[in-house]
Amino acid sequence: MVPTATCRVCAGTVTEFMDFGRQPLSDAFRDPADTSEEFFYRLAVGACADCEMVQMMEEVPRERMFHEGYPYYSSGSSVMRDHFRSTAQKLLAEHAAGDDPFVVELGCNDGVMLETVARAGVRHLGMEPSTGVSEVARDKGVRVRNAFFEKATALRIREEDGPADVVYAANTFCHIPYVDSVLEGITALLAPGGVFVFEDPYFGDVSEKASFDQFYDEHFFLFTATSVRNMARRFGLELVDVERLPTHGGELRYTLAREGSRTPAPAVGALLAEEDKRALTSPEVLSSFTRRVGENRERLVEELRSLRDQGRRVVGYGATAKSATVLNFCGIGPDLLEFICDTTPAKQGRLTPGSHVMVRDHGAFTDSYPDYALLLAWNHAEEIMAKETGFRDAGGRWLRYVPDVRTT
Ligand SMILES: [Zn+2]
Repeated sequence: MVPTATCRVCAGTVTEFMDFGRQPLSDAFRDPADTSEEFFYRLAVGACADCEMVQMMEEVPRERMFHEGYPYYSSGSSVMRDHFRSTAQKLLAEHAAGDDPFVVELGCNDGVMLETVARAGVRHLGMEPSTGVSEVARDKGVRVRNAFFEKATALRIREEDGPADVVYAANTFCHIPYVDSVLEGITALLAPGGVFVFEDPYFGDVSEKASFDQFYDEHFFLFTATSVRNMARRFGLELVDVERLPTHGGELRYTLAREGSRTPAPAVGALLAEEDKRALTSPEVLSSFTRRVGENRERLVEELRSLRDQGRRVVGYGATAKSATVLNFCGIGPDLLEFICDTTPAKQGRLTPGSHVMVRDHGAFTDSYPDYALLLAWNHAEEIMAKETGFRDAGGRWLRYVPDVRTT
């Protein structure tokens, strides 16, 4: 029997198509001296037959994920800093040009986007449950409230600050299983002509590239234009624009507005038609995805074992949240990876969750280049390869696993 679950959007039946087994929390980096038991959950994903939403079969309690020590800083990459600066300029020009506009961001992280809004002198509010990153945002002059966003919070914001012209969320909305409360809150908070703009990993890219590590504890949903359109309708909202983004290995930016308030851009109809043609959530396409992922796992493990047997030095590059899925799903531990280098100080000197590979600073990589580097941060591949020309010059090779296993 294939396991099923109840859809978090429409209460339809979600049928499982991929089981990644027992997984730890993706940010639970561990002190080597810590002997306490680790938290694991079953990571499995399915698709709803009614609304086509791709989602996790089981929910991880949110307080376990977004806490004081949440170690991801959006400003860590220069490509992402540029991305958010231009996003802020675009939002201000297109949606906040009226008198005294108000911009709200859900999950504002370290203020990388709102910083530009604040500098423009525009009223704004960032919602951010993780206190560590939000302190950094405050230092940039960004107004932050430490709370999860839900209906009650939205009503309070509207009472205190008035309606919002723009609600924006990057890599946040797909984290939230309780969509009802969030979308009801957004509907209550938006001005009549306001927009909800959000960007998240696109299941169309995941399906095409077999980028299975887009599934981890924080990504409860993997959206498509079709599933977002279906979800929006339930809350009196309409999908009025879509834009493909190269960020994080392939994302989509969705713009929702009150039903009938705007004419949808031609890109919406075009992408819906394309998704229809690809039949992204049909049983045939999903089972082909599952098969490709299984084959890539086998080839990656074979490659790593073969390199070890040849006495090659192999390290991981980037102890990303995604890497928790790859390492635990493939059973890659310290026997196959000497260490993983990462520039985030909070991760250094710690073991990766579940798989227990030591994380070391970037210098550990450059001081003595390995023979191979497993590119775990593949979504930043271009930026990383441009930065690490010394590694290639020293004869080093990159080992990649998306869209398939290859050395470059
Ligand atoms: Zn559904």
